[in-house]
Amino acid sequence: MTRKVSGPEIERIVRLLGRLPGLGPRSARKAALALIKRRNELLVPLTEALSDAVEKIVECPDCGNLDTVVPCSICQDVRRDRSLIVVVEEIGDLWALERAGVVSGLYHVLGGHLSPLDGIGPEKLNIARLIERAATGEVQEIVLALNATVEGQSTAHYLTEQLAPTGIVVSRLAQGVPVGGELDYLDEGTLAAAIKSRRRM
Ligand SMILES: [Zn+2]
Repeated sequence: MTRKVSGPEIERIVRLLGRLPGLGPRSARKAALALIKRRNELLVPLTEALSDAVEKIVECPDCGNLDTVVPCSICQDVRRDRSLIVVVEEIGDLWALERAGVVSGLYHVLGGHLSPLDGIGPEKLNIARLIERAATGEVQEIVLALNATVEGQSTAHYLTEQLAPTGIVVSRLAQGVPVGGELDYLDEGTLAAAIKSRRRM
């Protein structure tokens, strides 16, 4: 029989933290302990940051990014090249590309990849809005920066077909992204090389 070592409020923190990616039960306990021990420097400001985020974070109606301003900070940035859209699966991929600092254009976040076996068809992804954006006449190139996984690549083929009638140049990341590679795990140099030497679909 397992004995209770803390009250329900602390157990709840451990349980919720344990649902975060990369945090198993052991790490969740350590993180919870750090939070409750450092109540004023960590727990209180984190609580405030989270409750602020709950109120303010919205999905950008243009690109699908999450931010506290609408349209998002990236879509609002007048220095960005509006003729180029880089399509990614997840916001984590957008963050990875921004860290590498190699995208001068805008982004489009799909919210995942096509996966018929899991019931994820085109209508479940942010694809219709991409086609709309492609039709405005402003866009000249769309780079499909999707993961080098089977699902990522079949999504890329689907998008290439859907975008073909627009006549816009569609390209994909070049070699350097290892097969099965997820963008978020790549180092910035590899990402930069993959974007710079992209190829037409
Ligand atoms: Zn946006």
